[in-house]
Amino acid sequence: MPELPEVETVRTALEPVVTGQQIRSVRLTRGDLRWPLPERLDEILTGQIFGMPWRRGKYILLPLSGQQTLLIHLGMSGAIRIYDNCPDSFGKHDHFSVELANNNWFVFSDPRRFGHLDLLQSGNEAAHPLLAAMGVEPLSNAFSRTYLDEVLAGRKQPIKTALLDQRLIAGLGNIYVSEALFKAGISPRRQAGNVVGKRAQRLAPAIRNVLNAAIEQGGTSLRDHVQPGGEIGYFVQSLQVYGRGGEPCNSCSAPIKVIRQGGRSGFYCPNCQH
Ligand SMILES: [Zn+2]
Repeated sequence: MPELPEVETVRTALEPVVTGQQIRSVRLTRGDLRWPLPERLDEILTGQIFGMPWRRGKYILLPLSGQQTLLIHLGMSGAIRIYDNCPDSFGKHDHFSVELANNNWFVFSDPRRFGHLDLLQSGNEAAHPLLAAMGVEPLSNAFSRTYLDEVLAGRKQPIKTALLDQRLIAGLGNIYVSEALFKAGISPRRQAGNVVGKRAQRLAPAIRNVLNAAIEQGGTSLRDHVQPGGEIGYFVQSLQVYGRGGEPCNSCSAPIKVIRQGGRSGFYCPNCQH
């Protein structure tokens, strides 16, 4: 599932393609993905000019000349592909495709249909139901030791569960929370309210660190590997614990443990994380 770094990589790839470009045509294959799409979305978009894409949590926001903003959520398995010209063919999961005045296309495919497209009033994005309750951006200045202290204080749930809560921090998922907790030396099972002292001091920098490293890797993947029509935002990452159950910890060689928390698998080193 795409998390903040994957979504940021897609945003970075879209920026030079769409910014300042008029929408020549829109190909929309259905009226719903996870939820119903705005009515006449294809007609509304056609003829408008894209501004510069930005990101909030795991959402991509594409401002339009008509004072509205197109929101894209990749869901569980959604992907964006970019083409220099009209694609030779469309796959059956290519639900939303946009032709730009410079002949480029971008195509949103979503096999599991957990993604979403919506139109927001520009300038009023923060009031949108999907964005209104969202916590701070972990790469913004508002995210700090002090902020974490405030939101974690008194919480009885495991720290991993708290960090996955989008109302506290935007954009984190299973992969980067697991990696950040390893980097900070904190067990995912530790009570959130008990992350204090040295552990609390290490946590915010660890989160920023793993996100920035992954975004860097995503950027490298764009420069080196993406062919026209290749899926953007899924890149090979160097992960320390996530997906490495039973393998030796890179730091101490103890086997990485797998635990189930809130219905998801977590990975950690019982020797390095307390
Ligand atoms: Zn270890």
